Amino acid sequence: MSDFIRVEDLVYEYVKGEDGTSVRAVDGVSFSVEKGSFAAVIGQNGSGKSTLAKNMNALLIPTSGKVFVDGLDTSDPANVWEVRKRVAMVFQNPDNQIVSSIVEDDVAFGPENLGTDPAEIRRRVDEALTGVEMYDFRKKAPHMLSGGQKQRIAIAGAVAMEPECIVFDEPTAMLDPRGRAEVLSVIKELNGKGITVLLITHFMEEAAQADRIIVMDRGVKKMEGTPAEIFRRADELRALSLDVPPAVDMAMRLKERDIDIPEGILTIDDMVDYLCR
Ligand code: ADP
Ligand code: MG
Repeated sequence: MSDFIRVEDLVYEYVKGEDGTSVRAVDGVSFSVEKGSFAAVIGQNGSGKSTLAKNMNALLIPTSGKVFVDGLDTSDPANVWEVRKRVAMVFQNPDNQIVSSIVEDDVAFGPENLGTDPAEIRRRVDEALTGVEMYDFRKKAPHMLSGGQKQRIAIAGAVAMEPECIVFDEPTAMLDPRGRAEVLSVIKELNGKGITVLLITHFMEEAAQADRIIVMDRGVKKMEGTPAEIFRRADELRALSLDVPPAVDMAMRLKERDIDIPEGILTIDDMVDYLCR
């Protein structure tokens, strides 16, 4: 498997005010994301996750170190367009991402900006809306929709650009449990179709469904591994003010009472399947 994103010793500093003082938001982070895989980033508020995300599609350019997308160096201005075509972003607040007063126009916005021809835009918009199960809402006004529905429209907008990778920055943070479940299911489906996914989340049960997890703390990568590898380090996670997913917590408590649950059980669904067998 090849790396789609490669981050090498990334440092990002925000310069504050005219006195030139700076905040180092990301401090020497390296990792890679395999093509077609699903990676999650967890970490408490202010740990540098959003800054990391914006470095993935040249919205921010490294202060030092390198980010390569599909082999393209994001710090080369000649690559910015190609990088943004490959990596789309979906942010936390769906209201800030919706630009049109009709759902289908909103989804068409991205491909229009890429200069895609109208027939092809029509095809992409219909396909993207079908993919997020919002096709029947195509003539509706986005502000009439629920948070989860709006976020799925924002995702359709990203999908219509036919990126190879989508970076989701806490896409479920403002949603109710139902909206969260809908959005996560769409994310997993897109990954199943071959789109590389980088999901930033503070819901551990979402991270548990990734292939790999990166744990950030104060700008630094503290851990990296499979969900099973990460969540077995419950004490270290707690020290970083992070938790383990509910199913892992339950498995640990059952273990204290001598009921052994295998380590691969990371989600409530896994737990239910296992207990029913
Ligand atoms: P997270 O997404 O994990 O909450 P961020 O990447 O948003 O973390 O922020 C990391 C650090 O960078 C924080 O200390 C934050 O205050 C600082 N920061 C974020 N955005 C800016 C900005 N535009 N200007 C100055 N400092 C910023
Ligand atoms: Mg953030």
